[in-house]
Amino acid sequence: MTVAAVIVAGGSGLRAGGERPKQYQVIGGKPVIWWTLKAFLDHPGVNHVQAVIGDGHEEMFAESTKGLAVPPPVTGGGSRQDSCRIGIEALEGHAPDKVLIHDAARPFVSSDLISHAIAWLDRFPAVIPGMPVTETVKYAPGGMIDRTVDRASLWTAQTPQGFGYGDILAAHRAAQASAAANLTDDASVAERAGIALAMVPGRIENRKLTTAEDIAQADRLMTTRSFAELSDIRMGQGIDIHSFEPGDAVTLLGVRIPFHQRLKGHSDADAAMHALTDAIFGAIGEGDIGVHFPPSDAQWKGAASRIFLEKAVSLLHAKGGVLANADITILAEAPKVAPHIPAMKAVLVPLLHLSPDRIAVKATTTEKLGAIGRGEGIMAFATVTVRLP
Ligand code: MG
Repeated sequence: MTVAAVIVAGGSGLRAGGERPKQYQVIGGKPVIWWTLKAFLDHPGVNHVQAVIGDGHEEMFAESTKGLAVPPPVTGGGSRQDSCRIGIEALEGHAPDKVLIHDAARPFVSSDLISHAIAWLDRFPAVIPGMPVTETVKYAPGGMIDRTVDRASLWTAQTPQGFGYGDILAAHRAAQASAAANLTDDASVAERAGIALAMVPGRIENRKLTTAEDIAQADRLMTTRSFAELSDIRMGQGIDIHSFEPGDAVTLLGVRIPFHQRLKGHSDADAAMHALTDAIFGAIGEGDIGVHFPPSDAQWKGAASRIFLEKAVSLLHAKGGVLANADITILAEAPKVAPHIPAMKAVLVPLLHLSPDRIAVKATTTEKLGAIGRGEGIMAFATVTVRLP
């Protein structure tokens, strides 16, 4: 029996707030979708994984799945239902016997639940994991209680939902042909087609991340889990300074700030990103930027400093480590840095694989004292904590 998995990640996830859709927000050092895909890619019973992403999310997907051997995604449609159908259709060439359809926003799906879903598919045409409703359920249209609903046979539905491949493909096509819309899960599509669906036990931790609070809670949980295995705690520090020369902007932490001067240097002279990069190299005992990117090498002329930072982070990851936090202070008399701090943090979140509350960017002047105070350049300090196995 061959089993494929469709990971549905088409939503814009705006209820969770933040700079990006919820499936691309970072929990425990990795994007939500990274954890979800990894669970299926690592599972020995799953032969192929097909992700369905939102239009325009291609770059975010590529960046969020670095290091995973994930096949190319397909672009979904205007609704979850459309996206699922497109994902299922994309598997036609693989012709799997069974398909598991799973929400990208459920990163806590366990290997054990995936195994159970596959095993149950031997006994039933379709299986839906879920949780029996334990709280009293009220029917309250407009916020006023009309009546209490008998909860005895009520379940909430989770994913992965499992189906015979041909069955669910036909059911989705039939729903599309009759313009049946707003079917919020694949079970609803299958019910409409008269497929017998078994409700099987889900897992309480396999909840769907929806709100900003869900994301924050998931970050704490995932972080605690991964930190428990990474007991070697180290700190690193980095310092950098660049002087001004005539120009039209300075680049700090990847953000271009218009100014009548620029920072002089071989690369884009992003002193703050250099300090941060050196702090990471320092924490893992791997020298500094100069060792990895010699200024004598012409290929780094005018380079965007993010490539230096990406190198340091990838070396850390190669050692099985993660960052725990980064704290950066920029010393500048001018230009004003503070208004750009949110944009700088947005640059760093995906590069560092850290949630925003683990990144601090601060700016200060030196009260006109010294070279920085005389406006001759910009200096930056960075401290990081890393965790290694
Ligand atoms: Mg430098």
